[in-house]
Amino acid sequence: MTITSYSVQSFVDEQRKFFASGVTKSYDFRLQQLKKLKEAIALRQDKILEALHQDLGKPNLEGCFELAVISEISYAIKNLKKWMKPKRVSAGIENFPACAKIHSEPLGVVLIIGPWNYPFTLMISPLIGAIASGNCAMLKPSEIAPHTSALLTELIRDIFPPEYICIQEGGVELAQELLATKFDHIFFTGGTKIGQIVMEAAAKQLTPVTLELGGKSPCIVDKETNLKITAKRITWGKFINAGQTCIAPDYILVHQAIKQELIQEIKQCIHDFFGDSPAQSPDFARIINHKQFDRLEQLLDSGNIIVGGKTDRENKYIAPTVLDNVTLNSPVMAEEIFGPIMPILEYTTLDEAIKIVNSKPKPLALYFFSTNSDNKKRILHETSSGGLCFNETIMQVGVKDLPFGGVGDSGIGAYHGKTSFDTFSHQKAVLSRFFWGDLDWRYAPYSEKMVNFFKKMYTK
Ligand code: NAD
Repeated sequence: MTITSYSVQSFVDEQRKFFASGVTKSYDFRLQQLKKLKEAIALRQDKILEALHQDLGKPNLEGCFELAVISEISYAIKNLKKWMKPKRVSAGIENFPACAKIHSEPLGVVLIIGPWNYPFTLMISPLIGAIASGNCAMLKPSEIAPHTSALLTELIRDIFPPEYICIQEGGVELAQELLATKFDHIFFTGGTKIGQIVMEAAAKQLTPVTLELGGKSPCIVDKETNLKITAKRITWGKFINAGQTCIAPDYILVHQAIKQELIQEIKQCIHDFFGDSPAQSPDFARIINHKQFDRLEQLLDSGNIIVGGKTDRENKYIAPTVLDNVTLNSPVMAEEIFGPIMPILEYTTLDEAIKIVNSKPKPLALYFFSTNSDNKKRILHETSSGGLCFNETIMQVGVKDLPFGGVGDSGIGAYHGKTSFDTFSHQKAVLSRFFWGDLDWRYAPYSEKMVNFFKKMYTK
């Protein structure tokens, strides 16, 4: 269903009225809504897994990663009181006697636009933050995952009135209508190019944005590593959801001394995970649509296929594929792959690997497999990325107290846990003074004595 700009505006007007009533601000209200959301999701777990399977052929266990939002809600419920509590800070000697506090206040009416690859989680997870922070929210799930979009719509409309949380299904046209409307915050998850469009539209309204974008997340493998576990974790992280994960290891940069061994281990892992014919495996997802399938199929020519390479357009299947003899100029290295294709490039010194990573836009995630702590320190200090993971892939996303977000081209802002609460709140600075103890030192006529006092005090 597409709604007209008039109705987008009328929904937002209703939400503004509801927000202005102050109802959404109390601790009790926020708590009740989080509980409602948790219960509604818990009751629909099987339906959610089914919708994800219909949209992406997502295996149930991978669907369960999306159900992890339930524990994210529990975490918000548990910590809400603490998060809402004003934080006292020092008011400084200049203000003595006084009290200074940071109050987290809701932003108002926020817009959340989601992508298709984790279509359930990536709508609900920001919504948790929006509710916990006391906002009204307008949601637009991705039209590219229609079963999940329909299910989200049913779920949200079942439990929330539209003047509080409103969900609208639609594509680009609806997104543009929404972006032409004034919101108090826009939380967008999607590709970098659309992120630019969102930010441009937001700038016109001076609306703050959180942009959760993508890009190429490198995976560097040092010669000092546990090869078997390295291969297992990389293979898993690359091929879950058929590679359609924003933080999937995009390409592998391996030390040339162990390249062949790593390739053998990865080959073995692919076989162990998906058997002789991954097309028959219930544990391997499908490409979302033919547009993505066609884009990915062309990338298979970017190097020598040493594992996989089989495709079946009708079933939107691309086998887990490993590409060798890929250069930095190959088409597969030009853009985020976002599919089950793993190019393997080699390096000879860590300087070279760092230089390659730093020559590209800052990634959302960077993975480094090594047992050498000096090398780990170098990666930590000499590269920049949204998140950094040593000896693991993907799992950083589940650590509730780690902020999740990009840097540079991979995004602006972050969320998860307390960071979500902060993202959807304004940190209001409140200084309270009293009428007693009104010292005269700052009122004219100014004294030279005070000038000397401050000069000394500031340089202490
Ligand atoms: P996308 O940018 O194509 O679409 C995202 C949303 O934007 C959809 O709801 C879509 O309807 C809307 N949209 C599309 N065109 C628009 C336009 N012209 N104006 C306004 N809105 C528009 O992204 P996608 O293909 O759904 O998802 C894949 C991308 O998202 C990848 O780059 C991936 O890395 C990234 N991603 C990032 C994260 C993260 O957390 N950082 C998570 C998942 C996906």
